[in-house]
Amino acid sequence: MTETLDLAQPQTPIVQRSALDLIGNTPLVLLRGPSDAAGCEIWGKCEFANPGASVKDRAALWIVRDAEARGALEPGGTIVEGTAGNTGIGLALVANALGYKTVIVMPETQSREKMDTLRALGAELVTVPAAPFSNPGHFVHTSRRMAEEMPGAIWADQFDNIANRRAHIESTAPEIWRQLEGRIDGFTCAAGTGGTLAGTGMGLKAFDENITVALTDPHGAALYNYFACGELRAEGSSVAEGIGQGRITANLDGAPVDTQYRIADEEGLEWVRRLMAEEGLCLGLSSGINVAGAVALGRELVARGKRDARVATILCDTGFRYLSTLYNPEWLKAKGLPVFPWLQR
Ligand code: PMP
Repeated sequence: MTETLDLAQPQTPIVQRSALDLIGNTPLVLLRGPSDAAGCEIWGKCEFANPGASVKDRAALWIVRDAEARGALEPGGTIVEGTAGNTGIGLALVANALGYKTVIVMPETQSREKMDTLRALGAELVTVPAAPFSNPGHFVHTSRRMAEEMPGAIWADQFDNIANRRAHIESTAPEIWRQLEGRIDGFTCAAGTGGTLAGTGMGLKAFDENITVALTDPHGAALYNYFACGELRAEGSSVAEGIGQGRITANLDGAPVDTQYRIADEEGLEWVRRLMAEEGLCLGLSSGINVAGAVALGRELVARGKRDARVATILCDTGFRYLSTLYNPEWLKAKGLPVFPWLQR
């Protein structure tokens, strides 16, 4: 087992001159329970350690820097985006640091914590009823229209703006590669925009094309069937926030996916429970689903003869963002999901 930190040796914590430089360079942690379950090493990239407490800080920074470089964003301008919440939080922080304003359009089904956080950060929050993508009232279309109508505004367009996946090609993938000292056999995660999956997959394969990249899809999303049999078809449903895609976004176009898994909420939630109870990690459901996918990929690599396989996945955001949902017995019961034992006391 690789020792990443020798507590006997004092280490100098990272020093940065700008809060924006706190985005990325997140730790990688060996996950004990998932590694035991898979029979090989499962590593989690701690994206909750970003300033906005999610993986989406990276996409936010790259999207804003790209708009500046293209000359699309003028000083004091406004960034408009439709988001399940985490991208909005990342954009609001980046915008504050660079002197821009943010307008965030969000489906009203997302957690209270994300809405309160966005308001606390100074974003203007617009909530719309949840609607299918084909409906003009969908949060993505609403945000595009608002950006078009607002003087001095840009639309971040995280789904089809590939500055999003470039964040992961240029930061997440090389970080994981260096952290594992170039010895990694598999990578998997779920897709919302697909930026993390496609970008990290592309970036890792540029280092070593033999790394197996797997999609981990929640129920209710269409990508599992797309990669398994070429047909965009969704089955079932999920309460996971931020993941579950029904189309091939520009960020997903050309994603180097070798294999795919479909994970039920119950299985993802069981890993959220275990990672909290056994390893002291407080995570959201997309992280639990990712870990379930990583265990499945690890088992498959071991079965293929790679007994010392190493798999990495993404711990997308902090569980503190879901106190009113995943960590709330009433909410869990209403969704027909098991309540964590310590919440039943
Ligand atoms: N998990 C959470 C909690 C998210 O908010 C997101 C972003 N939508 C993802 C996972 C998926 O990331 P991506 O958009 O890069 O596919």
